[in-house]
Amino acid sequence: ETYTFEEIQKQRQSLPAYQVKDELMRVIAENQIVIVIGETGSGKTTQLTQFLVEQGYTNNSEMGHRKLVACTQPRRVAAMSVAKRVAEEMGVKLGDEVGYTIRFEDKTSPKKTIVKYMTEGILLRELLEDPNLEKYSCVIMDEAHERSLNTDVLLGLFKQLVRRRRDLKLIITSATMNADRFTQFFGNAPQFFISGRTFPVETFYSKIGCMDYVETAVKQVVTIHLANSKSDGDILVFMTGQEDIEATCELIKERLDLLENPPPLDVYPIYSTLPADVQKRIFTRQNAERRKVVVATNIAETSLTVDGIKYVVDCGLVKLKLFNPKLGMDVLQIVPISLANAQQRSGRAGRTAAGMAYRLYTEKAAGTDEMYLQPIPEIQRANLSSVMLLLKSLKVSDVLKFPFLDPPPPDLLYCSLYELWAMGAIDNKGQLTSLGAKMNLFPMEPTLAKLIILSSQQEFACSYDVITIVSMLSVPGVFFRPKERADEADAAREKFLIAESDHLTLLNVYNQWEQRAKIVQSKQNKLNEWCKRNFLQHRSLLRARDVKNQLVAIMKKNGFPVIQARSDVDIRRCICASYFHQSARLVKMGGNNRGQAEYANLRQPYLKMFLHPTSALIGGRDLSPQFVVYDELVLTKKEYIQCATAVEPQ
Ligand code: ADP
Ligand code: MG
Repeated sequence: ETYTFEEIQKQRQSLPAYQVKDELMRVIAENQIVIVIGETGSGKTTQLTQFLVEQGYTNNSEMGHRKLVACTQPRRVAAMSVAKRVAEEMGVKLGDEVGYTIRFEDKTSPKKTIVKYMTEGILLRELLEDPNLEKYSCVIMDEAHERSLNTDVLLGLFKQLVRRRRDLKLIITSATMNADRFTQFFGNAPQFFISGRTFPVETFYSKIGCMDYVETAVKQVVTIHLANSKSDGDILVFMTGQEDIEATCELIKERLDLLENPPPLDVYPIYSTLPADVQKRIFTRQNAERRKVVVATNIAETSLTVDGIKYVVDCGLVKLKLFNPKLGMDVLQIVPISLANAQQRSGRAGRTAAGMAYRLYTEKAAGTDEMYLQPIPEIQRANLSSVMLLLKSLKVSDVLKFPFLDPPPPDLLYCSLYELWAMGAIDNKGQLTSLGAKMNLFPMEPTLAKLIILSSQQEFACSYDVITIVSMLSVPGVFFRPKERADEADAAREKFLIAESDHLTLLNVYNQWEQRAKIVQSKQNKLNEWCKRNFLQHRSLLRARDVKNQLVAIMKKNGFPVIQARSDVDIRRCICASYFHQSARLVKMGGNNRGQAEYANLRQPYLKMFLHPTSALIGGRDLSPQFVVYDELVLTKKEYIQCATAVEPQ
């Protein structure tokens, strides 16, 4: 059940932002740059854009064109979900007056859209086409306190842009942490506070460190649920990502099923690759008799507000991209959150009444010995080669002098520049090469962009197939492997495997799916059934098709030939040529199980890694391949190679 339009307007008017609307609009009218600081849930993200529209910032300019209000988000989920909400509040269709743009998905209309939510990455790419952002009258940089890599790059670019475009309003919103840094950076721009009401939150620590945080969180949720009546409020659990969120949700249901008469509990997961309609369910009106538990990534820390939360269960961890100097690349790693994040998470329990936060770590662990005071900005911990390539294209000739809010460590900068140079994207003088300029046409990691470009060249001539592979690498995993049917799923996957190459396996899956689509004449239910039978994620494949179509369009627009490969060999050669810096050599044979075979990175020989158990390079012949190239490394108990192709001796 959803809310009526009138109910939604009532909700709007009760938000703290609404109470200060006039004053806030006056400050924005009088200043080019304003820093807006407010508690989570006060209405910054959903209301500010609408206020600006009401004030006439999107009305016809001299040229007779409407201008747009942009609102950037560090996360794609937030951009989509918030745009949907605002369209609802304004009583318009999503994609008309209010829309969103995220990578490979544009839900805006060139004629109608006046409010555009987008990821920061999209705004950066728009800057490549229009360095003055002429179509916008206002840009809201939302959630700037998150300090994503793109936030920091945008901040530096805006510092210069606001001088060229005196009429452009820049509004930076931030949770209370970090806000002063923005003020200093923009020459003492005024701060505007939206005071929200918050209630006290009582914090409990775990007495001993927990061995298994999923298990411990589940126990805590069940205990809270059984010990308190529903009228008390709902539960929010912080986990690190899709895997532990799904495990937690399943385990909660399992545990409750074991009990005689448990009160009903609705379990909702939320993470970035979850389909939008499933995500939306957490906001629908629920049965008053049932409690809900939302299991989320740190997206629920500040970007999404779920109302009615009284209990927070915090695992104390977050999954971050960290540049690993040993590997020379980013690795997803689960690390302790900072104290500022811990506080934000606990605070989610006190929005509507006094609440309780259960931290699954000890009070000692929450000391400064084990946790940072503030999170480390991404620009100081992630690979910068994408960003450097972009800055070079924006004609920022000396990236070392770029106005960074916090400069990246020099080693990280040099390392990223070196990578670009080794790839041939910049020359000896640090200037963008023609290859580098072409790479920027593709909105993806430099390695994948280069893979596409190489594949369109005469020597490899396999761009049609490579585009499919890249599309499959850009969507959430296509193989579906439910725990209780793992054997069946593995058997289904085996049928798709192409010897010695996960890349070609992905290509094979896509091609078979596409062929099936032809046979059933794209009847979605039939196609979906086929996917279920083969343990494939239908949604991921649909998305891959979308991405593929867009990549083909980019190729055509820029005059790259789209060619079908004559043989798999050409595709394998092209993959090897593009991933040369992500290559490894076999150093220790595994026994019967090739999964245990040990590899060493070719550039960093002391770096050891293992084939992932689901890889197509496991099984088959007795001998593991001597050399492999790989797309990614994941760090769990071991460093695992994700998506690899064996290098065949020529
Ligand atoms: P802030 O940006 O200051 O954290 P928001 O503008 O995101 O605040 O949220 C304001 C209010 O709107 C919150 O009470 C939140 O619950 C509600 N809200 C936000 N998104 C949605 C949605 N998709 N559906 C229903 N309510 C929403
Ligand atoms: Mg917000």
